[in-house]
Amino acid sequence: MSTGIKNLVRTLDSVDFLKMDRRTFMKALGAMGAATFLNTYQAEIVGALEFAETKLVWLHGSECTGCSESVLNAGNPDLVQALEKLNVNLVFHETICAQQGIWNDGKLVNNSELNSEILLEETYKAGKYILVVEGSIPNGPNGSGRYLVIGNKTFKDSLAEAAKNAVAIVAVGACAAYGGITSADSDVAKDTDYKGVAYSKDVKGGMLKELGIDKPVINIPGCPAHPDWILLTLGAVILGKIKVPDDLNTLLDDYGRPKVFYPPDHVVHDNCPRRGYYDRGEFDEEVGGPGCLWKLGCKAPYAHADCAIRKWNGSVSMCTQAGGPCIACVEPGFPDTSRPLYVEREDIGVAGTNIDTVAKVAVGAAAVAAGVHAVRRMGKGE
Ligand code: SF4
Ligand code: SF4
Repeated sequence: MSTGIKNLVRTLDSVDFLKMDRRTFMKALGAMGAATFLNTYQAEIVGALEFAETKLVWLHGSECTGCSESVLNAGNPDLVQALEKLNVNLVFHETICAQQGIWNDGKLVNNSELNSEILLEETYKAGKYILVVEGSIPNGPNGSGRYLVIGNKTFKDSLAEAAKNAVAIVAVGACAAYGGITSADSDVAKDTDYKGVAYSKDVKGGMLKELGIDKPVINIPGCPAHPDWILLTLGAVILGKIKVPDDLNTLLDDYGRPKVFYPPDHVVHDNCPRRGYYDRGEFDEEVGGPGCLWKLGCKAPYAHADCAIRKWNGSVSMCTQAGGPCIACVEPGFPDTSRPLYVEREDIGVAGTNIDTVAKVAVGAAAVAAGVHAVRRMGKGE
């Protein structure tokens, strides 16, 4: 635990953490990792849980399972410990649930323990579950959704069934939030018509709107999403610190992201470990150097996320620290607004090709960034 977080936890120790008002609670979550939160407040969490257990259904659409991988990489606590501490019953998660099937030894399996279709039916009927969606949802071809069929059912239909009685819906990762890589501009994009759960790229009204389901959705974008963003958001929902839908207007930004992890007034560039090089105008032109990655296409001045503060892999590193230009994977227009990924944005215009999809503040930050850079280049006579 870093000294800053230790001090924060010490301060928070003197107050009843879970009696904090929602805003303060969410602010505190922004300053600590899932490990600190779950380990430090375990006793309070157990006491505060309203239900004996919270059911969680985690569905996978069109995706690479990177977000599940990301949350499975959460080291301390690991996913199992986190679920235990939050008293969560992970009813269904396609890649990590026990092997199930409709047939067993040639006989039809007709109980919920072995047949996940029955299990899901029963869970949906009983209600009171949180739905996590990972991956986008194809609407094509021609609105049929048949570009993704699992168990003879389109994923579009599976989402409709699951969403109806969910008490909260969390879209995890760039694909589920906004369509992500699957919805990138291409020759087939019109036919496949991939959508996020509540957004299509940066436009409100994803697959739920198509299905005529009016439910609020919390977006946790990222390619992949950070395990802390996922676990802490789920924790806040489970503890009733994010009341759905009452609190969403104040806690989420215009693109459905919790402001605490995706601050509207903060970009990754602000705290980048390479920022000193940027400020001195020392730009790497090849990968592997210590300098600023702007010329290699870094899009961090556009990326609203706390990556450079929270860091990744157990707070060890993050993209630019590890030498990779940020690709602004948390933004609603990703990847189109970040393309070409490894080309200096100045070459294609400060705001890229799709200015409307970049939040105003990011345009400002990037304009300042590019302006400073250009002035430095002029000074150097480049
Ligand atoms: S442009 Fe990218 S590499 Fe350079 S300081 Fe900003 S975030 Fe860091
Ligand atoms: S640093 Fe940039 S590319 Fe890396 S996870 Fe954060 S927003 Fe995404």
